[in-house]
Amino acid sequence: MEYVKSKIRDVVDFPTKGVLFKDLTTAFKDPRALHIIGWDLSQLYRDKGITKVVGIESRGFIGGSILAFELGAGFVPARKPGKLPANVIRNSYQKEYGVDTIEMHADAISENDIVVIHDDVLATGGTMAAAYELVKSMNPKKIYINFIIELESLNGRANLPADAEVTSLIKY
Ligand code: AMP
Repeated sequence: MEYVKSKIRDVVDFPTKGVLFKDLTTAFKDPRALHIIGWDLSQLYRDKGITKVVGIESRGFIGGSILAFELGAGFVPARKPGKLPANVIRNSYQKEYGVDTIEMHADAISENDIVVIHDDVLATGGTMAAAYELVKSMNPKKIYINFIIELESLNGRANLPADAEVTSLIKY
């Protein structure tokens, strides 16, 4: 994991002043780092019977797709409003400035599914908490939550449901 960490780029003041942005594109473009990320993510869920991986737009699509492929599971996108073509369910949540919304197809998850929701970075946890509620409303058997990076200083876990099992590969 030290190798992956060495490939993550810190960008100061992005997207707004005061944010230290953890840029994973520099790790994803490195074949060895990408391989380690995909392998280590999948090892966390090998024996869990996962049937669907939900990736959160847009940076969660990358690790989420790899995870789904490695586990032999399906992939489901959770998207920004207006992007999904068929019937959707949506959830709005408070961001630092204003309100954001995410959508999923209403038939994306069934009651027999065991689901991992994946995003690249856990910051405040608001996005993941909203995605969790959406997935939960479709009544799958079990929901796991996963990130590549967890920014512990922001204590995002406090905003995630207490009954969810949360994992992350790298903590800062
Ligand atoms: P949050 O809802 O605050 O947990 O923010 C989650 C989303 O914002 C994630 O999908 C991340 O991609 C992105 N994000 C927030 N803060 C950072 C950061 N410091 N570095 C990289 N990505 C971030």
